[in-house]
Amino acid sequence: MTEPQTVKDLYKTLKQHMSDNDARYVLRKRAGLDYSDLISKPDTYISEEAIQAIKQDLELLQDGKPLSKIYGEREFWGLSFTVTEHTLDPRPDTETLVEAVLKSVDRDQPLSILDLGTGSGCILISLLSELPHAQGVGVDISESALATAQENAKRNHVAERCSFLLSDWDEKLTESFDIVVSNPPYIASAVIPTLQDSVKKHDPILALDGGEDGLQAYKKIFSCLSRVLKPHGKAYFEIGYDQSETVTRLSRESRFSIVESHADFAGHTRVLEVCPDECSGDK
Ligand code: GLN
Repeated sequence: MTEPQTVKDLYKTLKQHMSDNDARYVLRKRAGLDYSDLISKPDTYISEEAIQAIKQDLELLQDGKPLSKIYGEREFWGLSFTVTEHTLDPRPDTETLVEAVLKSVDRDQPLSILDLGTGSGCILISLLSELPHAQGVGVDISESALATAQENAKRNHVAERCSFLLSDWDEKLTESFDIVVSNPPYIASAVIPTLQDSVKKHDPILALDGGEDGLQAYKKIFSCLSRVLKPHGKAYFEIGYDQSETVTRLSRESRFSIVESHADFAGHTRVLEVCPDECSGDK
């Protein structure tokens, strides 16, 4: 038996360990309390069962496990996604990519979208939720990630407009697309041991490790891009905060021009928007 705790006290304790937002999230998940309950019944006692569950969450959190992986879900682009140990946690930085696509496409067009290395499916599914006439394919080399992406497509009501394909990048793809998006693994192998525990212990290495120079996945993608992207299409890639120059160089070597670079909240170039050289005058 633990000490009885009131809503107010538990909320205060949680805020010592996490952001205000996360503290409210934990109270909602484990004690069924929403924000109005925190205001209207601060002196109510929390059930013993909820306190025990929260205690366990705090232990896992202290061991580096992110809340998303404890509860198996994460919010991205205002939608809720199932996440597992086989999917990279959707990050706010990646919303820059979704925003960049939406900024430059015609929402009334029946666009086709390819997501290379779809993971949880968060990029493709967010785009489909905003583009009612679009349809898409998410490719991944992880069967387990694809099952999660499929579940997320259903969860967010876009399953009829997308399919998921087990493939090593473009290997099994036979069509070409109006839009290609990707948040590939881009961390240099030697940097991985220096990442925070929440990333290096709980995100799949397959989704992080970009090889010795961090560029292996981009090299693969650029080598197949002219095949999977339609001649007037555009591709959008998430890049590491210091990779703008190197990925721009790779892009030029593969005869793709940079249409625009997009910065994340911290001001780093986070997304490169590219098109085939021949089309760079169109934009
Ligand atoms: N942005 C992620 C991180 O810094 C890495 C994701 C990736 O390699 N695509 O942890």
